[in-house]
Amino acid sequence: MLFERRVTRRVEVGSVSVGGSAPISVQSMTTTKTANVEATLQQIYALAGAGADIVRCTCNDLDAAEGLAQIIPRSPVPIVADIHFQYRLALAALDAGVACLRLNPGNIRKPEHIRTVAMEARDRGVPIRIGVNGGSLDPDIEERYGMTPVALVESAKRELGHFEAVDFDNVKISVKASDVRLMVESYRLLADTVDFPLHLGVTEAGPLPGGVLKGTAGIATLLNEGIGDTIRFSLTADPIEEVKVGKQLLEVLGLRERSGLDLIACPSCGRAEVDVIEVAANAQEALAKLDIPIQVAVMGCVVNGPGEAKGADLGIAAGRQRGHLFVRGKVVKVVPEDKMVDSLVEWAEKISEAGIEGALADADLGAEAEAEADRAALLESQGEDVNSTEKTVDIIRRR
Ligand code: SF4
Repeated sequence: MLFERRVTRRVEVGSVSVGGSAPISVQSMTTTKTANVEATLQQIYALAGAGADIVRCTCNDLDAAEGLAQIIPRSPVPIVADIHFQYRLALAALDAGVACLRLNPGNIRKPEHIRTVAMEARDRGVPIRIGVNGGSLDPDIEERYGMTPVALVESAKRELGHFEAVDFDNVKISVKASDVRLMVESYRLLADTVDFPLHLGVTEAGPLPGGVLKGTAGIATLLNEGIGDTIRFSLTADPIEEVKVGKQLLEVLGLRERSGLDLIACPSCGRAEVDVIEVAANAQEALAKLDIPIQVAVMGCVVNGPGEAKGADLGIAAGRQRGHLFVRGKVVKVVPEDKMVDSLVEWAEKISEAGIEGALADADLGAEAEAEADRAALLESQGEDVNSTEKTVDIIRRR
């Protein structure tokens, strides 16, 4: 079942809209010292180049705030300042010209400090993300509600109350936790409670691949329910990875147009005529360099391959030391096995230049017939039951 996207207010993080009908944005965070302006800018450019829409930098001391003042005018994307504990650093970040602040309500607790920051942000038209984190809840809230979705949402509501007192509502909210189920339930409750745009993330998800798995489990579950306006994968890895997986997740969920390669490959089985893992890895490496928005399939055999991958723009299936190259399921060329990857690159470029129809018009006459003959010969030699399923079942039955 497809869920409608939740209707939210819209906030402007510099040039990037978050919420309303704006596209879901991808965020990441720099790992450099913000005071090191050149190193931080280099990372911001790399993140923007990988597809980050918004980048957050820590503002943990005055040197960092001064660094922000130099970084912001040269940044290709809006910069968010991450503030913990010292409200004066939030004011300094606003002076530096940040596009958004992230405040952790568990760390800045004095109402007068929160209100001072909110008033300054209000007067400058700068939004604030209320960044609740399950690991740093206000102690009295945790004592009262335990580590529960209600506690995380209450923390956000308390902060909102301080903001409302000074007539500030330029807000987005996150209720992150490292426990995926707690995170999902907290966002669901929050989505039922407020109409502010939501920033999704599973915090401290850890290194790859587990971190990606946890982040995806939480973020994708919510996005599929129509919840979420901007996302961040918190990985213990190069932040470029956070951006890549964020973008990829939006693409596979159909929430963003494909911008690069989507390589699909069969898992291989007893029918495989090549080392699918190796061919897929080589194809991935060669095709990724082209930077073409295309779906390419690598299939281990010609018996099932072309049929199973007929939705792909381009694909190759192995059989009898040859590769059957197909475009949207139609075989266009039969190539030697050692030319499989090169041929994929050649035809991906052709599709990029001439489109699917243009590539189909360039098909080799007779390729389909040649492929069908290979396929029939393989079926003949391998039989229908190449994985020996029937034989195995027979052995089991005899016991
Ligand atoms: S039947 Fe062919 S395409 Fe399917 S998994 Fe096996 S080798 Fe791959």
